[in-house]
Amino acid sequence: MSDILDCAIVGGGPAGLTAGLYTTRGGLENVVMFEKGMPGGQITLSSEIENYPGVDGEISGMDLMMPWPKQCQKFGLVHEMVEVTRVSKEKDLFHIAKGDGTISKAHSVIFCTGSSPRRAGFKNEKEFIGKGVSTCATCDGFFYKNKEVVVIGGGDTALEEALYLAKICSKVYLVHRRDKFRSAPNTVKRVKQNDKIELILNSTPVEVYGDAMGVEGLIVKSNDGETRDIKVPGVFTFVGNNVNNQALIQEDGSFLCDTNENGEIIVDLSMKTSLAGLFAAGDMRIQAPKQVVSAAGDGAVAALSAIGYVDHLLNKGE
Ligand code: FAD
Ligand code: NAP
Repeated sequence: MSDILDCAIVGGGPAGLTAGLYTTRGGLENVVMFEKGMPGGQITLSSEIENYPGVDGEISGMDLMMPWPKQCQKFGLVHEMVEVTRVSKEKDLFHIAKGDGTISKAHSVIFCTGSSPRRAGFKNEKEFIGKGVSTCATCDGFFYKNKEVVVIGGGDTALEEALYLAKICSKVYLVHRRDKFRSAPNTVKRVKQNDKIELILNSTPVEVYGDAMGVEGLIVKSNDGETRDIKVPGVFTFVGNNVNNQALIQEDGSFLCDTNENGEIIVDLSMKTSLAGLFAAGDMRIQAPKQVVSAAGDGAVAALSAIGYVDHLLNKGE
């Protein structure tokens, strides 16, 4: 088998895994998915999903994603557990530089590195991460069993995770900087009906405080200038995500392909980027619905496009 990959997939979330399934099953022979951690992506942090088609009832993100890697490996997808530090292109070949210092070469690349939690930006947030400030209710919620916690944010993640935490904790204060939520109306309704959730609206977190043992409380300020000291040992921030595009930045600081002002990759309906042979899929492309099902759909589309590109490049289809 050639040292040159038919396709390199960067990122092993729903988009990357589906791209892996479709490229290998669709005839590409030498496909490696580079994933810095365990495959599955950010949905493995979610406690419950109820909108993945065909899966009736609630399921945790971990359980939903468990069978995906095995299914891909059956068709020949190789998973290399390593961080990709830079993707570049020389003539027709992509160079995939990796955290272990090695470089892989590929005829095509499907880039699907998703996104990472954003910081809310209040005082001492960084210092208390892992000591009472968390971005993962599934991972850390249990530490606050029968205790009070704060959740910050007004999107789907904040509200869904507030509902999850309300099952474990004695009380959840939901702090949101406006009085309108981005979250789905049904989720807003469930939050408002939950006796264990107190809404603190039109309020912004100012400072988390505590000692070497961890968080003791959070100070929030309302839009009319009043401050409130909420004494809790746990603060969960769910204030959105930034796309993981660092590996596309070239030595001269430019991006390998066109991106928009938020750093999201510009693609067409075939998931083609502005650079031939480079495809993008999932949360990190423009106008992504940011759903597991759409990320998986993107991965399939990108894979079919990559197959066509590689076949044409190597004249395989003739
Ligand atoms: P991701 O899932 O982010 O996967 C990207 C992968 O790339 C990660 O595994 C990461 O480790 C890897 N990676 C990143 N950079 C590199 C690199 N340089 N080198 C190697 N690997 C790299 N969606 C729903 O449809 N329903 C829900 O109920 C739902 N609930 C959610 C709850 C939470 C708490 C969160 C955070 C999200 C939720 N979502 C939900 C959204 C859903 O998780 C995402 O839309 C989906 O995971 C996006 O898939 P992706 O493959 O594009 O990216
Ligand atoms: P999001 O929709 O971007 O919401 C982020 C929230 O945090 C917003 O309410 C925002 O307030 C608030 N915020 C942002 N910066 C802040 C700061 N510095 N301080 C305080 N508050 C701040 O992010 P998300 O909830 O993580 O969702 C991301 C995407 O994944 C969305 O497209 C979402 O629909 C999707 N998702 C879907 C599901 C599902 O389908 N069930 C579940 C989870 C996530 P403003 O509203 O004022 O801007």
